[in-house]
Amino acid sequence: MDEFGIIAKYFAPLAGEGAFGLKDDAALLAHRPGHDLVVTTDSITEGVDFFGFDPSPSIARKALRVNFSDLAAKGAVPAYYLLNLSLPHTVTPDWLAGFAQGLAEDQKEFGVTLMGGDTGATDGPLSIAVTAFGFVPSGKMVRRSGARAGDHVYVTGSIGDSGGGLAIFRRENHSLSDADRDSLIARYRVPEPPVTFASMLRDIAHASIDVSDGLIADLGHVASASGVRIVVEGERVPLSAPLRALWGDNTLQRAVTAGDDYQIAFTAPPGLTGPFTPIGRVEAGQGVGLTLNGVELALPSRGYRHF
Ligand code: ADP
Ligand code: MG
Repeated sequence: MDEFGIIAKYFAPLAGEGAFGLKDDAALLAHRPGHDLVVTTDSITEGVDFFGFDPSPSIARKALRVNFSDLAAKGAVPAYYLLNLSLPHTVTPDWLAGFAQGLAEDQKEFGVTLMGGDTGATDGPLSIAVTAFGFVPSGKMVRRSGARAGDHVYVTGSIGDSGGGLAIFRRENHSLSDADRDSLIARYRVPEPPVTFASMLRDIAHASIDVSDGLIADLGHVASASGVRIVVEGERVPLSAPLRALWGDNTLQRAVTAGDDYQIAFTAPPGLTGPFTPIGRVEAGQGVGLTLNGVELALPSRGYRHF
């Protein structure tokens, strides 16, 4: 099947209103009055962000969700996406059907539609680039740059689970129950960005970022964008029971550098409660510190970098 057959069979059924059944050169994005359109893009590559043997529905969902976490961190609700595929020549109809099914499931779960893309073949690894568009009430997008001394730092979900799943695939020794093992692998394969939290976030957060490179590294981006120092109180960082079972005494140090979490770290006034955990504070100064029960820890290695 050539690319036109692939587009017509697998992707046209996913097209939204304004995408003309993926039969035109471009699409029209309907605007939402009183809102700003927020755009972000992220790609995932076989051997870097997922394994070739991962199920194709979960690869599709990861490709979408690593983008939805960026939108959520900005306080935006996802609406549309574009899909650029570099497919190895070996890709099968079964693989494509599963991939399209994964997209369809997440379109339903998150209320998004496919508006276009590009499809090509490659002799290299499978690569999937998604560009996602979302809406935020005008002027309400949350930046990295708004943290102020006196803020507290909060994070959604738990940190490090995806890194734990990756460690299991890298054959790290463990004696986990099947349930613990499966839950960490599930977090690696299909992140759970807090998409519905965006509407609350934009009303409370001064600064926000999605945790993709590692909690410490990403809070470092907030600290430098805001011109402040961030101190993470290690004993407060939410770590799941399966992850503690995997990493034992090293759990904190590894979790805060693991990355691939796709949760949201944000700063806001002290004392807030909600679907998030307070993990630290913002001070005058620069950089990021990590303490455990008040004692400064050596900063773990920097987060994930491609180069
Ligand atoms: P062009 O020749 O203008 O680049 P294409 O033949 O690449 O057009 O694409 C034809 C149509 O199919 C366009 O509307 C494009 O957005 C859509 N399309 C191509 N690949 C994908 C894809 N992977 N997902 C969604 N839409 C796609
Ligand atoms: Mg094209």
